[in-house]
Amino acid sequence: MSRTVLAADFGGTHLRAAVVDEAGGILQRSDHATPASTPQNVAATVVDLLAEVARAASPQPSAVCIATAGLINADQGKVILAPNIPGFRNLVLTTPVAERLGIPAFIENDASAAALGEFRFGAGRGTRHLLHATLGTGIGGGIVIDGRLYRGASGLAGEIGHIILNPAGPKCNCGSRGCLEAMVSGVAFAQRAKKILEQRKSPVLHEIVGYGEPTAAHLHAAAAKGDALCEAEIRHGGHLLGLGLGSLVNVLNPDAVTLSGGLLAMGDMLIGPMREAMYSLAYGPAAGTLLRTSTLGEDAGLLGAAAVAFERLDG
Ligand SMILES: [Zn+2]
Repeated sequence: MSRTVLAADFGGTHLRAAVVDEAGGILQRSDHATPASTPQNVAATVVDLLAEVARAASPQPSAVCIATAGLINADQGKVILAPNIPGFRNLVLTTPVAERLGIPAFIENDASAAALGEFRFGAGRGTRHLLHATLGTGIGGGIVIDGRLYRGASGLAGEIGHIILNPAGPKCNCGSRGCLEAMVSGVAFAQRAKKILEQRKSPVLHEIVGYGEPTAAHLHAAAAKGDALCEAEIRHGGHLLGLGLGSLVNVLNPDAVTLSGGLLAMGDMLIGPMREAMYSLAYGPAAGTLLRTSTLGEDAGLLGAAAVAFERLDG
């Protein structure tokens, strides 16, 4: 019988867990709301839920991996900082999980895990070197080199949202100015939409947003209805994204760049200018780099965690 692992996708609102086989088949899954509680209670709940899923699994999974957003030192099993879970700092999550479940436990940054998930099960299959970008509320990424996840010296590698595109640009959460994430992300697009509303420059956007808070989806909806200013914002964002990815392609020379995340819903309005800018920077053979969209959909987080668990098991 083929090996299985227990994969967990641990976010600010949900904890999803599943038993996954070596072909990326999801055998059973569970989905719980992340409790709003102290970090110790949240950690205890995570351990309880994973133990429950593992107990119901037959055969026993060979390992467990938790993928979560934030600064993760995977080799130490430590969450250094988790922006979506208040108070989660310098917390070793793998030890209590391993003790309770009696199997090896690992943790990984969610975007890094997503990269390995695409490499093993998704749009990155058949490549040797892969750059994966997650385009959502924030911008994340992961790097696979010679078929293995590249974590860097302390787990930070792949933070592609924090390359600088404009030193005089808007302030970023990381402390710098003009980072890719501060200029093109779900949050950045929502801020641009807010600015457009404040300046009363788009009646279409105003009608779509009403009295609520503007979002990136509102900006796209207005653009799709023909608002030229909103469309220009998205196209400019795509252009900047392409400059960032194109620069990284020249550094890393991957076989392919894969993309996932909610911003892909903006379609060609974002991806067209992105593709054009990325290839316009290509130095020599970088022009042959493939560009692909994730094929893993909703399960990308779980399959990423599973891919990390299998890689760790195989040492
Ligand atoms: Zn930054």
